[in-house]
Amino acid sequence: MTDIKSMSLTEMTDYFKELGEPAFRARQVFQWLHRGVRSFDEMTNLSRALREKLASSCLLCPPQVERKQVSAQDGTIKYLWRLGDGNCIETVLMRYHHGNTVCISSQVGCRMGCAFCASTLGGKVRDLTPAEMLDQVLFTQLDSGLEVSNIVLMGIGEPLDNFDTVLRFLDLVNSPEGLNIGMRHISLSTCGLVEKIDKLADYRLQLTLSVSLHAPDDETRSQIMPVNRSVGVETLFACCRRYFEKTGRRISYEYAMIDGVNDADWQADLLARRLKGAPGHVNLIPLNDVAESPLRPSRRTAAFQKRLESRGVTVTVRRRLGGDIDASCGQLRRKRLLETEQS
Ligand code: SAH
Repeated sequence: MTDIKSMSLTEMTDYFKELGEPAFRARQVFQWLHRGVRSFDEMTNLSRALREKLASSCLLCPPQVERKQVSAQDGTIKYLWRLGDGNCIETVLMRYHHGNTVCISSQVGCRMGCAFCASTLGGKVRDLTPAEMLDQVLFTQLDSGLEVSNIVLMGIGEPLDNFDTVLRFLDLVNSPEGLNIGMRHISLSTCGLVEKIDKLADYRLQLTLSVSLHAPDDETRSQIMPVNRSVGVETLFACCRRYFEKTGRRISYEYAMIDGVNDADWQADLLARRLKGAPGHVNLIPLNDVAESPLRPSRRTAAFQKRLESRGVTVTVRRRLGGDIDASCGQLRRKRLLETEQS
């Protein structure tokens, strides 16, 4: 079966040419798909014969809501979607004054092994397809009735470990015939795969790159993020500098505050020094407790922030949303997996 929904409009036009159909048909189908129809039958401006032809040769498999949780505190909505092959992934819709932001997954599970993250506990099962990434935005919008204006790739998975798919996805959501969400409304978060960051820089996209740093020194970072064991903080910062020089886009450094691990004054000082040559800002994140992990949230966030600021670093502290609904990375999928194992 052809994965028609993962195609760009150009690819779809070529595909329709092969089918002996005119180019405007491709545009119609592209528009229908990006409006979130659940079957080819809903494409009422196509002939019945064409709809049947597409249904017999093309894959159209929208995700099902496996579970949905709405935060009573702040209206955050978390979806656990069941994909065509039975795997589950998570999407979170966060409501801010400046618009609704959807946080989407890029893989089923993750192979990066970060010590504080629930998404990686069972390893990586598979990559998502561009259509499965797009569907998270489309069906979150349709189910919630809320329009999405911003997208963050901060759900389950390491986006740069699924590089080609993510680029295709960005092209799809960016399409004027589709959701038309501009690159400046998109953030991509990575644990720091330097070769892939260099590759991304070559595309000179106007998206915001977030680097999950979590520690400014190799000893600590390698302890909590295995990816650091082969690369190291200095190499990562050199890469970030290149990224900034090439794209002109400031990087956002994510830093989850972990009690007694990365929240010491000397680490704030080292972080400030490292940032001198790599313009960007630091986003301090209150650690979300993961039951399987011994790591606990820091109680020094305010002091750490002050110390960074006194050294000229721009710092924000992330507001916690959806704390009552397991809204952080991988927690809901993890729960579902454990329940299935027990039953
Ligand atoms: N793989 C990508 C994107 C997914 S994780 C990355 O590593 O950036 C999105 C962000 O949530 C990352 O910064 C990640 O380090 C952070 N994160 C994961 N588990 C967390 C937890 N328990 N508490 C706080 N932040 C967490």
